Amino acid sequence: MRVHLVNPSHLAFGVAVITPRWLYVLASATPTSYGDPVITDETLEPLDINAISAGDVVGIGIHSGNALRGYELGRMVKARGAHVVFGGIHATLFPEEPHELGGATTVVKGDGDMMWGRVIEACANGTPERVYEGGRVDGERLSKARWDLLPKDRYMWASVQTVRGCPKHCSFCSVWRTDGQKPRVRQTDAIIEEIVELRRLGFRFIALADDNFYPVAMNDLKMADRRTDKSGYERLKAIRDERFELMARMEKLPRDMVFFTQITMEAAEDTEFLDAMRRANIKGALVGIESVTPEGLKDVYKDFNLHGDALADRLKVFRQHGVHVLGSFIFGLPSDTPATFDATAALAQKADITFAQFVMLTPFPGTVDFEKWEREMATDQTRIEGIPLTRHWLIPQAVRPKVYSPHPLMAANEIRDRTQGVWDEFYSLPKVWQRSKCVKSLKSRLAFVLVSKLYRQMYANTGIATDSARVSRAEKWARMLAAPTRRLFSAPPMPELQVPN
Ligand code: SF4
Repeated sequence: MRVHLVNPSHLAFGVAVITPRWLYVLASATPTSYGDPVITDETLEPLDINAISAGDVVGIGIHSGNALRGYELGRMVKARGAHVVFGGIHATLFPEEPHELGGATTVVKGDGDMMWGRVIEACANGTPERVYEGGRVDGERLSKARWDLLPKDRYMWASVQTVRGCPKHCSFCSVWRTDGQKPRVRQTDAIIEEIVELRRLGFRFIALADDNFYPVAMNDLKMADRRTDKSGYERLKAIRDERFELMARMEKLPRDMVFFTQITMEAAEDTEFLDAMRRANIKGALVGIESVTPEGLKDVYKDFNLHGDALADRLKVFRQHGVHVLGSFIFGLPSDTPATFDATAALAQKADITFAQFVMLTPFPGTVDFEKWEREMATDQTRIEGIPLTRHWLIPQAVRPKVYSPHPLMAANEIRDRTQGVWDEFYSLPKVWQRSKCVKSLKSRLAFVLVSKLYRQMYANTGIATDSARVSRAEKWARMLAAPTRRLFSAPPMPELQVPN
């Protein structure tokens, strides 16, 4: 009996940007008595179904974006007589769906770190339960990853998690509901050991794959300090101190290392934190800007963000403190107008952000937006290939709509075309070349251009276009660009590297 772990994807690029961490975490949680699991990341290559034998245990992790491919794999795997175990955010939210559509033997809800071994044993003994509750594992008990199983030369960035959960409550995001609002911080020693292991293997670029690397904003601390009961303040202060301790340890890592993470815009008010990030070589962060208008921010329950000129100034603070911003914007909010697209493109330019992504509002399961939309759609009779829109993740990719929520002013196609237009403008060659000034040598500037173009092909053209020829062209382009781009990220291994004190 062998154990397999599969990350489903309907698109494969041969090379991927970031390692899907969960595969290697569950590999580490696999009892050694079953040998090393066989890992398949379909963003690299599709699963070889002939490698699955009767009696094997196959773990498939799904989010709403890849659930349909996950179910297809599940049925194929089941037909070969294997046990099919589903996990991941989508399976946590809809634990019955993998049974109905994916041939599931069992489903694990929540974190798999502590539960995976028990599930394998149960499958091996022929006594699997229908659903397991993995819960939320404490920060100290979150598993490290088995990086020794990573295939060579396939990923640009490795991924290490330092904290799980986010105290915010944005309406389009399910993280705070699935991972919880209480930050679960991993121990600094465990994080540093993992980073050192990755640098030994030749990974210089590491994504700190956290829900929110800045889980305690200054404002949260101030509010907690005003209360008579100081226990909340002490708890938040301890989390903040641990962040600084981690960053101080990261300063002692090889200086050629580059980290990237995800934080909220409030971090710009905390320049002590930004300076510590810079010293720790955390050179970039995804910042959820979402909207450039106050109405848009209200739409997504993110009124702690700024808008207009104040927003541009706030974003510049990141650059002034050595942290590059990948700004994330959402289009299709109820308050958006055609003018919002131009205003967003102008703001992205003015605010000096290095990379940007422009996504279209999608009601993802587990979010406040989804619940509201599902209620509004209760009487909607639209079906695509027999699937109601409120189960959009089950609609085949080729005919899946890109915009769902009816908009008071704009048709779905208009939102999609205007979104594509903003991507085109932001990633036009002259604009990318202009932004590439943020790095010094000609070689680095060319690398910057290559990475920008790859990012746009992988995420914009394959995600927004409805025309299959454009998607397939983008996939080919991304495949061509991916291999040379990956080489730019690799570094000579440092097998002798020691864990800094
Ligand atoms: S979008 Fe970001 S800040 Fe908002 S809840 Fe999700 S993880 Fe937290």
